[in-house]
Amino acid sequence: MIRLGDILEKVKSYNPKADLEEINRAYVYSAKAHAGHVRQSGEPYLIHPLDVAMILSEMKMDVTTILVGLLHDTVEDTDATREDLEKQFGQEVGFLVESLTKISRLDFESGEEHQAENLRRMIISMARDIRVIMVKLADRLHNMRTLSYLKPEKQVKIAIETMDIYAPLANRLGISWMQSELEDLAFEYVHPEAFKALQEKVKAGRKEYETYIKKAIKILKKALMEHGIKGEVTGRTKHLYSLYNKMKSQELPYEQIFDQIAFRIIVSNVRECYEVLGIIHSMFKPIPGRFKDYIGFPKANRYQSLHTTVMGPFKERMEVQIRSWDMHYTAEDGIAAHWRYKEGKEPLPEQEIKRFTWFKQILDELKDVQNPRELMETVRTDLFPEEVYVFTPNGDVRAFPDGATPIDFAYSIHTDVGHWCVGAKINGRIVPLKYKLKNGDMVEIITSKGHKPSKDWLKMAVTNSAKAKIRNFIKREEKDRSQKIGEELLDRELRRIGKTVKRALKTKVFQATASAFGFQKVEDLVATVGYGKYSAKQVLSRVYPEEMRESKDESEEVKISKKASRRSSRDGIVVDGVDDVMVRFARCCNPLLGDDVVGIITRGRGISVHTTDCPNTEADRYDQDRLVKINWDKKTKVPRTVRIKVTSEDIKGILAEMTAIISSRNINISHADIRTTSDMTAVNTFDVEVEDLDQLQELLKGLSTVKGVIAVERMMTN
Ligand code: MN
Repeated sequence: MIRLGDILEKVKSYNPKADLEEINRAYVYSAKAHAGHVRQSGEPYLIHPLDVAMILSEMKMDVTTILVGLLHDTVEDTDATREDLEKQFGQEVGFLVESLTKISRLDFESGEEHQAENLRRMIISMARDIRVIMVKLADRLHNMRTLSYLKPEKQVKIAIETMDIYAPLANRLGISWMQSELEDLAFEYVHPEAFKALQEKVKAGRKEYETYIKKAIKILKKALMEHGIKGEVTGRTKHLYSLYNKMKSQELPYEQIFDQIAFRIIVSNVRECYEVLGIIHSMFKPIPGRFKDYIGFPKANRYQSLHTTVMGPFKERMEVQIRSWDMHYTAEDGIAAHWRYKEGKEPLPEQEIKRFTWFKQILDELKDVQNPRELMETVRTDLFPEEVYVFTPNGDVRAFPDGATPIDFAYSIHTDVGHWCVGAKINGRIVPLKYKLKNGDMVEIITSKGHKPSKDWLKMAVTNSAKAKIRNFIKREEKDRSQKIGEELLDRELRRIGKTVKRALKTKVFQATASAFGFQKVEDLVATVGYGKYSAKQVLSRVYPEEMRESKDESEEVKISKKASRRSSRDGIVVDGVDDVMVRFARCCNPLLGDDVVGIITRGRGISVHTTDCPNTEADRYDQDRLVKINWDKKTKVPRTVRIKVTSEDIKGILAEMTAIISSRNINISHADIRTTSDMTAVNTFDVEVEDLDQLQELLKGLSTVKGVIAVERMMTN
């Protein structure tokens, strides 16, 4: 059993100036608070906080963290309150214990949505102070070590959670010993049979391995000595769960997992690391594709080492890791190494600790992720990145998840570089933006100021920070657009009752209406009008009920048409399965009744209707979610404007003839433009209002019979 004395001694060993009296006080407080409580094992509850504090002292954490280890369950399980802890031990301790209490109440099991929300909360509190997760990990480790006392269902639940969340977290924080221990402890409960079988096999082969390890170490040590390098050489079998994963991923039986033993050579500096690598490669044949330089390209959790696998002295595959002592400490303790009290030096300042940036990054990304599935995905990809390393033009190295594109790279440089990115060069050659970055690529981004990201970029970007930035940009743009459209729609309606939108929006009654609709700001309500959620009339009937009623009485027509048809049908369009949507005809292809059409959902403008061959729809086309099937409502004939172009000889009177043909068909001309070119031809463009495709085709035919007309065609307006 751990005693307070053990903890005090440990803390003193790495932090001679530590306030041990404070730790003692926390111990007494915790003992009093938990008095009479018993663990499932039958032991006094106090054992648990003591063990947690011990684990934290082994991680060489600061005094505050040790205090929190001792006190971490007091608010959750006893009468103690945050306020009381703050009074006794200061604000920091109060905050940390409170955060841990909140995390312990989270339930990661129930449903995706719930799980995501909990994860979000946990990550947010961790990001405020990373020591929260250090204590949480120590807490979880002790609970896992004593898991056998719980009921079987609980064991499995806790083990799965450990495997899903806490072991990956330990990995991401670079605390490899904790990751291994958590994984092996959980493995036993999550896959009991596989665990037992593997454990037996390892046990059975242990003697053989131990002999082999001894022999191999001797050979390696001798080689180092001959080259005058002082280094420590160790060898051990990998932890069970990583062997299990290897067997699974390589589909090999245990007997064929040759590299279950990792030899580790620790030397004093980087130069020696590469020297040792050279020595080993000259003694033993390296296996191609197995050499990894994590010194030149550290992992995201700052892990550094050289890894290689060679045909060893007994013609076996031998895996060797080479690192310096500094790298070794980081590899073992990860983020905890930040707290290490170096001899004669003060602990690292807090900013230094907070610089562990990945938490900050995750946090930034999570702020904008609303969809629970997306959130889980974000966390997952951030916890297990498969990395590629590329160079900036200055020779800096940047790491990206597998599959990242120049877009990810651009956004990692600066948000504007991302937005303005129009192309990329890899090793001097221009590549498409969807190019997948490869290790060692030199990436250069071509920008054009003011360029805007497009929606397809979301498909090309892999990193969550790039995606979040693109999404934010698009959302902002859509919101701006919706707001403008909303203002226009409101203005049109307001003018009928003698008001303007500019003034109306500033009135108190409008603000009150916005909050009645559930919006904090007037602009948000305006945006929903532009977006098509509410109609201008719906909103204004609330703001100016009387005026609006009067205005309706005046125009009987409006009332009838509203009753007679749904809003979308008023436009002559029926959208499959959707009621009352805002439909807009694209101003580029100007679809007509009879044209083959497609609807594209735009967040800013409801559904926009294009002809199926409109080139402007190409970009949206592969986003299936945004396409809707629409049909013409044949009963409703609404005249629509299309543009036609008539190329003719420049003859006097020809224009009059053409307009006569148009108006003889009862077709309105809303705009005409006549230009003569130097070669005596005239280009006449007419915007005409026609009811359907048949009528247009008739007209085009009619125009083409005019003497002097060379060509007649329908045009895109944009
Ligand atoms: Mn606990």
